[in-house]
Amino acid sequence: MDTKKLANLLYPNAKPIEYWLEKYPKRNLPQGAEVTRISPSPTGYLHIGHAYSALISKLTAMQTNGVFYFRLEDTDQKRLIDNAGDIAYNMLTHYNLKPDEGYRGDELPQIGEYGDYVQSKRLAIYQSFARYLVEKGRAFPCFCKKSEGMEDIEERRNKQLEESGFIEEKDVCRNLTLEEITNKINDGEPFALKLKSEGNPEKTFEFTDLIKGKREIRENAKDVVLMKSNGIPPYAFAHAVDDSLMGTTIVVRGEEWFPSLSAHLEIFNALGFKAPKYAHTPVICKLDESGNKRKLSKRKDPEADVRFFIEAGYPKIAVIEYLLNLLNSDFEIWRANNPTKKYTEFPFSIQKIGSNNPMFDFAKLSDISKNYISHLTAEEVYSMLVEWANKFDIEFCKTLTENPDYSKQVLNIDRENAKPRKDIAKWSEVKNYFDYMFYGIKNYELDGIDKEKFKEVIKAYKDVYNENDDKETWFKRIKELAPSLNYAVDNKLYKACPEQFNGNIADFCTYIRLALTGKKNSPDIYEIAKILGAKEVKRRFENI
Ligand code: GLU
Repeated sequence: MDTKKLANLLYPNAKPIEYWLEKYPKRNLPQGAEVTRISPSPTGYLHIGHAYSALISKLTAMQTNGVFYFRLEDTDQKRLIDNAGDIAYNMLTHYNLKPDEGYRGDELPQIGEYGDYVQSKRLAIYQSFARYLVEKGRAFPCFCKKSEGMEDIEERRNKQLEESGFIEEKDVCRNLTLEEITNKINDGEPFALKLKSEGNPEKTFEFTDLIKGKREIRENAKDVVLMKSNGIPPYAFAHAVDDSLMGTTIVVRGEEWFPSLSAHLEIFNALGFKAPKYAHTPVICKLDESGNKRKLSKRKDPEADVRFFIEAGYPKIAVIEYLLNLLNSDFEIWRANNPTKKYTEFPFSIQKIGSNNPMFDFAKLSDISKNYISHLTAEEVYSMLVEWANKFDIEFCKTLTENPDYSKQVLNIDRENAKPRKDIAKWSEVKNYFDYMFYGIKNYELDGIDKEKFKEVIKAYKDVYNENDDKETWFKRIKELAPSLNYAVDNKLYKACPEQFNGNIADFCTYIRLALTGKKNSPDIYEIAKILGAKEVKRRFENI
């Protein structure tokens, strides 16, 4: 067949590919620099899996003095959602994953020489490369409508491919003559463009994925669609053209793409481009109600949407460090040894990513977050907390900002010392945690508490309490008073014969704590009393 004629017939107006190859020359980057990208489809919120891929991509580009760019993959017109591109960009920016280049939301101009970075604006480019493949004899038009019969064929082929990795029958439209095609085109029949696959599914080849390692892969045998009948390319062709022209060196994407890799590689090959390196990331899972492991689901799991963590008040660095901990298991040890370093100083490596699907674990996220927050100054906590409350709890925001000095003193309890208290995991917890400092005591945690003893201790203690005591004197006074009410100061003695005492010094202090906070557990009561001030402390003692 005269493929030049065919190309002219199908894409009469397409520019030669040389035009684009000249327009997008090879990037001039230092040796070893990696070009990575994040390329979400604007079909909803930004999934945690995208943040995960973006983190890998961003750190890799940073470490190698490369480029991390954003491409918006909006070719699936049916699934588009308004503002989803903006949301994705804003979320990446929020999580310190700001791209160096590319799409920046619908309002800001794009940055970079390799644009447009929105796929729906690149149709002329795809047409050129589609035409090129037709000319090379590597693509053909397919006129099969999605009629019932054809869908059956498509389904049968997919099933065969899944079951045996083999397709017995090649696409029927492969065999159309130029004349037949010309007639159909002249009749205005729409067509999809398909790859003329040359793969032999009985043959395998070795492929090294940066995360999954060495794998045997079956050659592609499927005549995959390159351009749909509406003139828009599906992901496989669009990403091959774009990643080649934009100079991507590593494609980091979810493992769900791995089964189509062989088709993607054949497309790169047919286009005459060297395929980039690939890193297929494991998928974040969780245990469902019946204890089975499953992928985080957009529908069922609010934590699949990265906005969830913002609303709950997890600091962004905590979320990033949690993801890093899922990616490189030695992150935790590194963090323990380097408590004040920035996470970007961690020697992250794609090769260290395990290939098992990690489990999303809120308890772990909380631990990491508590650790992170514990190392912040009161000033930092105040500003992050106010920023959060301003969006999600305006009443608490007012309380906090009414008297900033007081708020900062409260937030500084057990902080800015060698062993800061690790108690707050997210900003939404602070109001309840410190309610007694901001709103007074509404309830006392009295279960298991002997009310008579509680009263007796506070009655005696309020007479010895002195607001001017330093911490040592303050505690000395408690230790002096406790034995007179039969509380053991020596814990060993108490343990040896508890029946002789009303309790030990810890029980004694619990009563003071309860009177001041209403809670059995709280940060340091000496500091709490100092901040509340003598008048309020005395009032609280009177209430018992
Ligand atoms: N648009 C694809 C997605 O949203 C991108 C996959 C890739 O990163 O190549 O999943």
